[in-house]
Amino acid sequence: MDPQVLEAMLPYLKENFGNASSLHSWGQEARAAVDQARGQISQILNCQPQEIIFTGTTTEADNLALVGVAKASLFKGNHLVTSPIEHHGALDVFEALSKNGFEVTYLSVDEYGLVDPAEVEKSLKETTTLVNVMYANNEVGTIEPLRESGSKIKNLKLKMRNSFGGPFFHTDAAAAKYLDLDVQKLGVDLMTLGPHKFYGPKGIGILYVREGTKIESVIKGGAHEYGLRPGTENVPAIVGAAKALELLEEDKQPDAERIAALRDKLIDGVLQKIPNSHLTGHPKKRVPDIASFVFEGAEGESILLLLNEEGIAASSGSACTSGLLKPSHVLTAMGISPELSHGSLRLSLGKDTTEEEIDHVLEKLPPIIERLRKMAPK
Ligand SMILES: *Cc1c(COP(=O)(O)O)cnc(C)c1O
Repeated sequence: MDPQVLEAMLPYLKENFGNASSLHSWGQEARAAVDQARGQISQILNCQPQEIIFTGTTTEADNLALVGVAKASLFKGNHLVTSPIEHHGALDVFEALSKNGFEVTYLSVDEYGLVDPAEVEKSLKETTTLVNVMYANNEVGTIEPLRESGSKIKNLKLKMRNSFGGPFFHTDAAAAKYLDLDVQKLGVDLMTLGPHKFYGPKGIGILYVREGTKIESVIKGGAHEYGLRPGTENVPAIVGAAKALELLEEDKQPDAERIAALRDKLIDGVLQKIPNSHLTGHPKKRVPDIASFVFEGAEGESILLLLNEEGIAASSGSACTSGLLKPSHVLTAMGISPELSHGSLRLSLGKDTTEEEIDHVLEKLPPIIERLRKMAPK
């Protein structure tokens, strides 16, 4: 967490401990902090303060957006559209909804993970209430053409010309922090953000909900967060989320450019030094902070363990839970074979990543891959 974020949060963990729903002055101080944070965030996202809802996690924000809109719009229809490369926090919601009477259309993606806006348009029908396409993919970094898809959805809204206001367009922007987060320009009705992805605290999610969107709460209980997320507000985390977003915006462009240059050095170095290695995701339309690869004949989790011994924290799309090696649904949707998917690796950069660290990875990774390839059964 950014030290400035922690500093902003500390008073609300210590002396300003009031419940923001209480009428006494301790409570009102907490309320003022929540209001201020909501205002700051709404200015950055270019929306109204009352269009910002705080949840417990990003996953919860995804769930609220998707379940909330699907259920509240049932009077109009039961057809939902999603990309197949969403984070499980969104994708698994569609699986659950499809078991509960909803009709779900899964769009296809190309080899880079791109959704075709023309396919979004084709998928829309009279009963469509919700379309869900993430802003950038968290495994391979591909940036989706949201504005184009948004304008197709808007065309249908205009054609429908009724009080419904849908179909509603949600995007999960948790992996898109360095991109433009202006919801008006993006043309989305709902957008999810995760503050712990940009040096904010864990335990907080942000959901933008455009005024007029048909949505109901998933959790029942009270009037907090305009009735959409009942439960006592996590005041320190809300304050921290606003501070983190403010700091992100301050140096966004220079940060993004510097990080992208390091990312390119990393990608070029890996592809050059390691034979039979491939970049995953789009070579150009990708976020500055994600480099992702597949290596032929090397297993992802083994790569992670050996990298960890060199002080390098990485992740892999393949999760070897209970001995069952399941390839990443993202790589599978992109047409990458299960064998190749098992050798996947994601390296994420941050605002403090240095050139020396990139050099360190470029020195340590090639012999690790070579070692694993020698060990692998032919
Ligand atoms: C991290 C992430 C999430 C889930 O965040 P949690 O904090 O674990 O709830 C959802 N979507 C995307 C794209 C993410 O990167």
